[in-house]
Amino acid sequence: MLDVGALQVRYGEAVAVEHLDLALPEGGVLALIGANGAGKSSTLAAISGVVTPARGSVRFGGRDITRLPPEQRSRLGIALVPEGRRVFAALTVAENLTLGGAMHLDRAARAVRAEEMLGLFPVLRQFYRSRAGTLSGGQQQMLAIARALMARPKLLMIDEPSLGLAPKVVDDVFDLLAALKASGLTMLLVEQNVALALDLADSAVVLATGRVVLSGPAPDVAASELVRHAYLGQ
Ligand code: ATP
Repeated sequence: MLDVGALQVRYGEAVAVEHLDLALPEGGVLALIGANGAGKSSTLAAISGVVTPARGSVRFGGRDITRLPPEQRSRLGIALVPEGRRVFAALTVAENLTLGGAMHLDRAARAVRAEEMLGLFPVLRQFYRSRAGTLSGGQQQMLAIARALMARPKLLMIDEPSLGLAPKVVDDVFDLLAALKASGLTMLLVEQNVALALDLADSAVVLATGRVVLSGPAPDVAASELVRHAYLGQ
């Protein structure tokens, strides 16, 4: 479904991603791992269209989307939950969900989809008319994911979903991601909690200073010397 080839992302002279290949089949979950500054967020930005790659290609559903603007990629079914969640704090949960579906669904379809989201995320029902800014960090993360799902994406990309959350809440978020995986959703996950990410994922790519240093099935990556020492503290 997603094929990234020889990707290079630059910000002026600074090279954020030097060379990255990854492939993600439909229904698969891929974890993108690496230290701070390795180029993970820049990879997601290149796939979602927020930045244009300096080199390489991004293919989605067999189509070359390397130079498509972000809104067209979104229409094709690519959704991104950015790092730091960034829900609209002054708007209610209901309004945040509505915005998530605004580009893709008409009013009636939005209402149906919002109801589905409340079934999947019961905590959001409780706060439906509350401002998003009053929710806890974990609830905001749930809302950010629900908002992205409103558009019925084919590929969900999530940047650091566990960042700043208490361990129990992190478990809740990962339970939810596991349920989404079980429903067949294709996901690309950037996550600093490498143990959890590799547990969820089918495959993994390890980035270091903009280059792939290891990739393969998640259990193989988890068993590698590199990942055990550098990321799993074993
Ligand atoms: P983090 O976990 O800290 O977000 P990351 O692996 O996601 O790290 P990126 O955010 O993709 O890494 O950053 C890769 C490199 O690109 C870093 O050296 C970073 O300083 C640089 N960089 C990221 N965004 C920009 C930007 N808008 N302008 C200039 N340099 C940037």
